[in-house]
Amino acid sequence: MEKQKDIQLYINGEFVNAAEGKTFENVNPFSGKTINLVAEGTKEDIDRAVSAAKRAFKEEWAGIKVSERLRYIYKIAELIDEHIDEIAPLESLDTGLPISQTKNMVARAAENFRFYARMVETRLIGEAYQADGDFLNYTIHKPVGIAGLITPWNAPFMLETWKIAPALATGNAVILKPAEWSPITANKLAEIIHKAGLPNGVFNVVHGYGETAGASLVAHPDVQLISFTGETTTGSEIMRNGAASLKRVSMELGGKSPIIVFEDAEMERALDACIWGIFSFNGERCTANSRLFLHENIYDQFVEALKKRVSQIVVGNPLDKKTEVGPLIHLKHYENVKRYIKIAKEEGAEVFSAALPDECKDGHYISPTLLLSARNHMRIAQEEIFGPVLTVMKFKTEEEVIEKANDCRYGLAGYVWTNNIQRGHRVAQALESGMLWINSQNVRDLRIPFGGSKQSGIGREGGHYAFEFYTETQVIHLALNQHPIPQFGKAGMK
Ligand code: NAD
Repeated sequence: MEKQKDIQLYINGEFVNAAEGKTFENVNPFSGKTINLVAEGTKEDIDRAVSAAKRAFKEEWAGIKVSERLRYIYKIAELIDEHIDEIAPLESLDTGLPISQTKNMVARAAENFRFYARMVETRLIGEAYQADGDFLNYTIHKPVGIAGLITPWNAPFMLETWKIAPALATGNAVILKPAEWSPITANKLAEIIHKAGLPNGVFNVVHGYGETAGASLVAHPDVQLISFTGETTTGSEIMRNGAASLKRVSMELGGKSPIIVFEDAEMERALDACIWGIFSFNGERCTANSRLFLHENIYDQFVEALKKRVSQIVVGNPLDKKTEVGPLIHLKHYENVKRYIKIAKEEGAEVFSAALPDECKDGHYISPTLLLSARNHMRIAQEEIFGPVLTVMKFKTEEEVIEKANDCRYGLAGYVWTNNIQRGHRVAQALESGMLWINSQNVRDLRIPFGGSKQSGIGREGGHYAFEFYTETQVIHLALNQHPIPQFGKAGMK
């Protein structure tokens, strides 16, 4: 499957070339070879997509019956389920994520559509109050209008649907700007949405670079909201550029999440969770537990066990079912992660990594790596590396580890391992992160919000938070009887 058909833009229900006719190459992270060419959208394409979305929103989407709209949403979910065996390998080919992991992500993507269809069925009428029988006050939730969705390359298909499902189910028209390094499955989704029969222009995909296509979407005055997932620096740039047209924004940004293992934790489970949490998704995971804090009494024993397990992780072709860690998405990203391993040595950490198998020599592979005896002030403990690299530190007391874990600009996730239930809650509540797991690893009910504090984000995705983000709340007041109205100017009338 090395060669795939070229990627076009999807605007107004048609697959089209970019207005300027330019393309860029999409590279297979396993072989380093070109998979296909991608249409490079620019401002003109964004303008075309916005006009199509505006017309479709007004004429064919906002006004249709909710039950009719939701039929499309359920149909999209059904079609994703039917195409899992086609989408998952394409996602692995494009991103280097192991096939065993992309399959689950695609299934989860289908669930996102069903989840938001069900939510919309029950939540379009919000609150209602009746005051003394005189007035009825109630709220309704209406679509905001044109939603600009800008997404990253890690787990692209699933992350795109986190935004597309609530945006469409609540009645918005959508322009998706996928990441330039992972364009394939966004077009698969466009094909599915097309097949589901969505009116032309309701869903559009404009590929292209962030500085051109992405920035034009953010700056467009007719786009009312931007939901962004990506790096913190990009997020602040988007906020700056969106300020002129007062964009509603949601920001899901970077992380450097701590995992804290106390000496009373269930060691084998903590070890399993720690390894999965940093090495799944090739370590390219926003909620990765990339900073491990070990109590000093278990440090040596835990590190020994980590080394043993890390040496046994199956690194290989992402399309092989047995593979646990695949190649990093892109040569540039690979070089960046490599640079951090060099920095680790310069900062005085001990680097441990397993040997790479021969079949991995052409790909962007970093074998699972431990950066041992690190200190919290080091760059490797403060900056997001976003690869299969775990920074390991020691602590003595609960107060000390809370302070160290919080001494970081990010606040996305956190993990606490202890058999003392009071301590588990106490530490979790003291950590400055949006999401905490106690004796658990990255499992999430779709009803629960997802997102970070500090420089890891603004707002939350998921659950009813996304529903509210993609809707405008309108308040309606109705008088139920002839209640008195002040009569200014009547007293002096003859
Ligand atoms: P990135 O910020 O480089 O790019 C993300 C998207 O933004 C891409 O589509 C890109 O083209 C676009 N973009 C870039 N510059 C832009 C601009 N000036 N205006 C508009 N759009 C622009 O991020 P990435 O490297 O693709 O993704 C990795 C990052 O995403 C990591 O920091 C990771 O932690 C974060 N992430 C966060 C979450 C979360 O939910 N918090 C989830 C996944 C990934």
